[in-house]
Parts: sequence; structure tokens; C-alpha cells
Amino acid sequence: RQEQYRALRDVPSTTKDGVAVELHLNAGLLVDLPHLAETGAEGIGLFRTEIQFMVAERMPSTAEQQKLYRAVLDQIGPQAPIVFRTLDIGGDKILPYMSQIEEENPALGWRAIRIGLDRPGLLRSQVRALLKASAGRACAIMFPMVATVEEFVRGRAIVDREIAHLTRHGHDLPTAIEVGVMIEVPSLLFQMEEICARADFVSVGSNDLLQFLFAADRENRQVANRYDALSVNALRAFRTIVDAAKGTTCRVSVCGEVASRPLEALALVGLGYRSLSMSPAAVGPVKAALIAAEASGIAELLARELGREDAHDSLRPTLAAFAEAH
Ligand code: PEP
Ligand code: MG
Repeated sequence: RQEQYRALRDVPSTTKDGVAVELHLNAGLLVDLPHLAETGAEGIGLFRTEIQFMVAERMPSTAEQQKLYRAVLDQIGPQAPIVFRTLDIGGDKILPYMSQIEEENPALGWRAIRIGLDRPGLLRSQVRALLKASAGRACAIMFPMVATVEEFVRGRAIVDREIAHLTRHGHDLPTAIEVGVMIEVPSLLFQMEEICARADFVSVGSNDLLQFLFAADRENRQVANRYDALSVNALRAFRTIVDAAKGTTCRVSVCGEVASRPLEALALVGLGYRSLSMSPAAVGPVKAALIAAEASGIAELLARELGREDAHDSLRPTLAAFAEAH
């Protein structure tokens, strides 16, 4: 199997009916980056910046962060696209050198963009480091755990403010700056048009989105696998997101674990996603599934099944049978 997947490295990830699907990697440390060349993935669809903060002994300064990000960019080379997600701390991710507040429900607590907006010094420092590190190339910045349009707008304003600051001080800027948002809090599902009008791109964080959609702690084995990512409600949620981006300039991708599983990846492509970001080990299996599949057939099946008034629970058996038969 491993050999078989390695042989797919340079094979385009295009379905039998000609639908090209970009495959990207999720990463968080320098050691993850060689997988880019090994897998033949196009870029880094999600760089979890908090990992570098979690292994540090103290809060990295702006200059130290800039060095870290520069090392990442140097390693992936000038062509590969990368999306840097701003700090997603709190919840299950703790910085030992940052004072913690006791929380009854940390996953629902003071975390990610909420900390970033309440302590703008931290977010500003990170954004400045990312912009400086990306001078002369494209820079994509993404905010985690956004729950309202206003939070995104405020985050974007911080980026704009840093761009103005760097310009004023004569610094070189990135050649292009894109600001995006993770779709991982279900409240955004009901404001996708507003989000797509304001963000350059969105990326579905299915790990958290499903956790919050089904009210099932992703870390609690008793409940984490109780609900299916191929259930009708989850698929309708994924469809709402990709449909909202259609006909807008907002690009859409998926970077949660669902993109790492072949059958789920096929379903996402059937819904209209054309960009998936996954763990390195998933690239081979997902590509193998894609090149053997017809996107139009899956799209038709999903349109039919999700449109049924008596649709209920999981489409996994139906999708698996379809994938098997084709
Ligand atoms: C997600 O929530 O799906 C995601 C990609 O982010 P993380 O797993 O880092 O929370
Ligand atoms: Mg998340």
C-alpha cells in the first residue's frame, strides 16, 4: 500500500470525470514540512501556529516569531502556498507560560480569536511577524474559532492596521495578503453570505464544527464517535458553506479531519469542495480514492439523498456502497 501511494506522488488529483481537487497538508512544526515534497501536496492548507508556541519556554517575541515563520517559508520554498492560522490556544491547547483561568468548559471558553481580540497586543504581534516574514511572497492569515461576522471584521482590521504600520515604516510587504476564517462554530453557518462577502477564503474546521454541531466533546471517547460526519445534518452543514461561497470571490476548503478520510473526502468533492487539507499520511489514500471516482455521480447521489424529505441519519452506507460499485 505505502509503495502504491508513493507511486501516486506526481499523479494529478483529478477524478475520472476531470474534476481537479487540490490536496494540501496540515502542519504545525518544521518537522512536518518535508512531507510536502514526499506527498506531492500543493501546499500547506493549515499551519497551526500554536504548536510552535506550545513547545517554546516563554512567549516568543515578534522578532522570534518572524524568524520561526521565515524558517517555515524558507523550507516550503517560494511557490508553495501556505495558510497561517493565528494562535488557537485555550481549550485543550495550553501555553505553560501564560496564566490560565479556571474554566468549567474550556472548549467553549476564552480561546483562540477571543483571546486575540481581548488581548490585541498578542494578535498584533503575531500578524506583524507573519507579514514581515512573508515580505516578497503571498501571505494568507486565518482566524480560528470565529463565531460572529463582527469578530472576523475586527480581526481583519488588526491585519489592516499592521499593513498600514509596516507601510508607514518602509517595510517590504507581502506580494498579496489574504485574510480568511475557519468555519468551526455553527453560528457562522447562518451568516455565510456575510462572511463570504468579507473574507478572502474560508476553511471548514470540521473537528470543532462537528463537536459543536452535535454537542459532543471531540476529546471524550464516550461521545466523540457517536455522530457521523456523513450524517445528513453534517453534510447539509458542509453543503451550506460551499454553496455560500459559489459565485463569490471567497475560496473555500476543508482542513478538519474529515478531509483525511477517503469516503468523507469523496463526499466533500460531491458537495462541490475542490480544495482539501489533511494530515500527510492521508494524501495517498485520498488521492487514490479521488482518481478512481466520478465526482458527478457522487454529486447526484448527494443531491438526491440530501433533498429527500425523509432523509435521516447517516448516508455512510449509501455512499460506501456507491463508492464500492463505481
Ligand atoms: C478543526 O477544528 O477542524 C481544525 C482543523 O482545527 P483544530 O483541529 O486545530 O482545532
Ligand atoms: Mg479547530
